[in-house]
Amino acid sequence: MSAPNKSYDPVEVETLKPEEIERMRDEALAAFAAADSLDALHEAKVAHTGPASPLALANREIGALPPHAKADAGKRVGMARGAVNKALAARQTELEAERDARVLVEEAVDVTLPYDRVPAGARHPLTTMMERVADVFVSMGYEVAEGPEVEAEWFNFDALNIAPDHPARTMQDTFFIEAGKGEDSGVVLRTHTSPVQIRSLLHREPPVYVVCPGRVYRTDELDATHTPVFHQIELLAVDEGLTMADLKGTLDHMVQSLFGADMKTRLRPNYFPFTEPSAEMDMLCYVCKGASVGDPDRPCRTCSSEGWIELGGCGMVNPRVLTACGVDPEKYSGFAFGFGIERMLMFRHNVEDMRDMVEGDVRFTRPFGMEI
Ligand SMILES: [Zn+2]
Repeated sequence: MSAPNKSYDPVEVETLKPEEIERMRDEALAAFAAADSLDALHEAKVAHTGPASPLALANREIGALPPHAKADAGKRVGMARGAVNKALAARQTELEAERDARVLVEEAVDVTLPYDRVPAGARHPLTTMMERVADVFVSMGYEVAEGPEVEAEWFNFDALNIAPDHPARTMQDTFFIEAGKGEDSGVVLRTHTSPVQIRSLLHREPPVYVVCPGRVYRTDELDATHTPVFHQIELLAVDEGLTMADLKGTLDHMVQSLFGADMKTRLRPNYFPFTEPSAEMDMLCYVCKGASVGDPDRPCRTCSSEGWIELGGCGMVNPRVLTACGVDPEKYSGFAFGFGIERMLMFRHNVEDMRDMVEGDVRFTRPFGMEI
């Protein structure tokens, strides 16, 4: 601070006095320190450094001073303005840093939150699988047939040549709803989709070509490989002159449509009451195509290195079933086959636990969402 200059001209203005300049500077510094936001700081900046601010006005007065007083006054005002600008810049930096830190906290994005409150669902893979299989047969001219899940015992067993003393009728396998009385049939939850075949034969005149997908029930405990509610798809063809060769050709066409052109099936003799002759049907393992058999260096998880995957049962419709449905077995013959959708889903998509299919967890179904 310069000492008072005795040679100051009387025109020296009040605003250029050292204590006035000091007051203006201190007011500016106090205003900047008090500004608690960038907006408040901007207001203080306009008030204390703008063209109408006291220091700017004082600066303008310098020009009116006599020459010998100009330098001294100019130095004082210049120093004060320098200090004010420096304090302004420092406070500006401080407030910007505070704002940036606050924005980082307030506008932080939690990437682990669900991105959508109403996520798009996915159709259950059992449904898409069942429709995919049914479509193969619809394209061959078959008709989709459906029937009740609560079924008369007669449709579920008797008409299919399953005698009253057959083990499948015991309480171990079947959910009984109502016991039969005399001539009246009992009521059960259907244990297979075969009663739909009987209903189809009773409602249609041959030739009959139907595919029957649906839900069936057995008294199994739910575990990794069993479920009391599962899905089957069955096929029935009744026409003049049908043979096992037609059955085999139809099976081959199905596995080729679902798993690729180089697929094939094989039949192994078996027994079912409703077909004669009956067979188990296997399909070639679609992963290793049989190459894993006898080759320990190339094990196959899908078929357990057996080369074939068991698919289901099939055969020529038992003449007694045709008779029970009013179809003349001398004139017509037919073939039928059926298999479980859950099983096909398990080996086709490497699903290891059947419980995943029934527990309704969307984390299981969503990966299948691209299937239509
Ligand atoms: Zn294999």
